[in-house]
Amino acid sequence: MTDSPPGQQCIFCLNFFQELTDEHIIPDAIGGSLVIRRVCKDCNSYLGSKVDVHLVSNFLVEIVRFQKGLTGRRKNLKHPLSYGKLVSDPNVGIKWEIGEEAPGKLILDTNVKYYTDENGAQRVAISLDATKEVELPEILEKIAARMLKKGLEMDPASVTPIHRSTENPEVSFTHTINLIGIDQAVLKIVYEIASEELGSDYIQSESSKRLRKFIMNPSANLSDLAELKLRGQMDFLSKFRDIFDFVKSDHLIAIIGQPAKAIYVRIFDFYGALVLIDDDADIGSEHIESTKFVEFDVVVPSHSILNMSQVLSKHLPES
Ligand SMILES: [Zn+2]
Repeated sequence: MTDSPPGQQCIFCLNFFQELTDEHIIPDAIGGSLVIRRVCKDCNSYLGSKVDVHLVSNFLVEIVRFQKGLTGRRKNLKHPLSYGKLVSDPNVGIKWEIGEEAPGKLILDTNVKYYTDENGAQRVAISLDATKEVELPEILEKIAARMLKKGLEMDPASVTPIHRSTENPEVSFTHTINLIGIDQAVLKIVYEIASEELGSDYIQSESSKRLRKFIMNPSANLSDLAELKLRGQMDFLSKFRDIFDFVKSDHLIAIIGQPAKAIYVRIFDFYGALVLIDDDADIGSEHIESTKFVEFDVVVPSHSILNMSQVLSKHLPES
């Protein structure tokens, strides 16, 4: 009898599997075309729904996704300002349909409110968009039927329409961003690149163990981030991109040093991270010179791998 082969190790749960799955290092939904096959099915689906989601489904990134037509699995990606509330009456929802002509159309939600007036009479207030006035008889019929069930009669002829218009309606929007979630999603990219570059030695290291734990923690908070003892910088809407600022691409991954000492990740112009992989590594100019760049074009989507001199001649041809 022979032992069956151990199979391949998942870089997150560290269990062995007969088969691993395709994992997009930068999420597919934002055009990341670089794929590794080092993650098991369960970890892959966890990463997609609990980690990547913070990066791809926040309104800043959704604006860019909408502009560039990056729908992801949702065939119909709504623009992130498609639904808000009227400032003058926050009970009224309002849809903003962006069309051919700016600024598009604002359409009020149909709203039915039952109330008792000061004389104790049952009343109904219906508000609807002027473009939907044709729907009013049908709505009234439904309300009358509902009232009848309660033993109340409603005379549709007693309806008094009030037309109101606002010249310049103001709409408010609510958006939530999970900043720790974004850190987890960006560090996932760093971890996957480091594992791909450095292999099992890295996966067994203490720093990788901490990183794994943080990325896979569904309730990670600021003190978990501090415990990570991350060497480097994580930035949001920031300016540290100065090192590789001259590289103009939708996303950028730079692997600094050979073997890798640090990983640099930039997602659109919103998020950036420069993380030292090794607990006691330092980056010198010799490491910067041997940097390997992965530039992403999200619309095609495609990526190209370039060395420092190729990147310089592509982006700084004058020098
Ligand atoms: Zn796994």
